[in-house]
Amino acid sequence: MKLRPAVIVHYHEVGLKRGNRPLFLRHLARNLARATSDLGPVHLRQLSGRILLDLDDHPAPETVRDRALRVCGVASAALAYRVPSSLDAMKAVVGRLVEGRTFASFRITARRAFKTYPMTSVELNRELGAFVLQRAPTARVDLHEPELEIHVEVMPAETFVYTDRFAGPGGLPVGTAGTVAALLSGGIDSPVAAWRMMKRGCRVLFVHFHSVPYLPATSQAKARALVERLTEWQYESCLLLVPFGEIQREVVLTVPPPARVVVYRRLMVRIAEALGRARGAQALATGESLGQVASQTLENIARIDEAAGLPILRPLIGMDKLEITGQARWLGTFEISIEPDQDCCTLFTPRHPATRMSQEEVQAAEARLDLPSLVAQGCAGATVETFDFPARARVTVV
Ligand code: ATP
Ligand code: MG
Repeated sequence: MKLRPAVIVHYHEVGLKRGNRPLFLRHLARNLARATSDLGPVHLRQLSGRILLDLDDHPAPETVRDRALRVCGVASAALAYRVPSSLDAMKAVVGRLVEGRTFASFRITARRAFKTYPMTSVELNRELGAFVLQRAPTARVDLHEPELEIHVEVMPAETFVYTDRFAGPGGLPVGTAGTVAALLSGGIDSPVAAWRMMKRGCRVLFVHFHSVPYLPATSQAKARALVERLTEWQYESCLLLVPFGEIQREVVLTVPPPARVVVYRRLMVRIAEALGRARGAQALATGESLGQVASQTLENIARIDEAAGLPILRPLIGMDKLEITGQARWLGTFEISIEPDQDCCTLFTPRHPATRMSQEEVQAAEARLDLPSLVAQGCAGATVETFDFPARARVTVV
């Protein structure tokens, strides 16, 4: 018997949508197709409550499953085998799956997606369980913590049998929630923040501020490497590189040292907003987490918000550094972020920034700056780079 592999994808939150479910599923299917497009022929099908990737004659079914596990909206994915819905065919594939495998305990988890199938799931569990026991006489049935769980999903036209089901990221498919402009430093936090917005269905536009030629171009290289990694989750990305050194020099001339961090951040927000709006962004996102550093107090966050005409989303606000670092490691951004470099915020930045600036203090600090011209200067100097995955072709448009 030739095994017919397929990846079976389950979703959770997408399934909770009512009227919009077809739209969410279309995005999920399209993203699954895109994420696996370089691996070989994949035929996608929507079945009740699942998406199926038919992989007959596919050279790398496991790689397809691993890619599916990195698609936002996927609750779980498993490499399954397709058989006709007869008990004999099910037994044949179950036999193949347990062949050569040692396990002390197991369970069969049968589910019928349509109730007119002549056997109930209890009967299927019993029949197939007895069959496994014949093949592996030393194994016992354990319904609670089995070493091996054999899933049998009976659909009208065929049945899917699989053993190992892995958890995906969950959330919503990228493209269903609009665009946000994420302020991406070379640090640990902002890449995680950008990813969390993707996981809520957003397409992320990246904005990085650098201080070339006052500082080396390392921060840009890090931003590129981070965007490249994060593009694996949204397939196409745009990175805007904004020269900020000249703007900081202007700030230094008139703004007292303790106020500079908040003034820099407010300028970044204004520039990111202008660049983002021009590309359809409906919000900004940052990697701020309450209390983590001096600029991240409630007072300073309020001052930063007051500079923006778009909502500023802070998905990490309630997370602590250990949790954020754990996510960064899992994403593969951590190794890039910890590469040493000098962020533009280390340039002309005081050792003791003000932690609780009032509106009056910020107004006084910015009084002698020509804000519109600084914002225009930042926007005019921005360069755009595009990234894509899986193709990874990169085009630079200046
Ligand atoms: P991160 O780890 O993301 O750098 P952080 O803990 O260092 O964050 P801050 O330096 O206060 O915190 O920066 C707060 C947020 O401001 C960052 O998460 C990022 O969204 C934004 N930001 C800071 N520097 C830059 C930059 N050079 N370019 C773009 N955004 C920046
Ligand atoms: Mg930082």
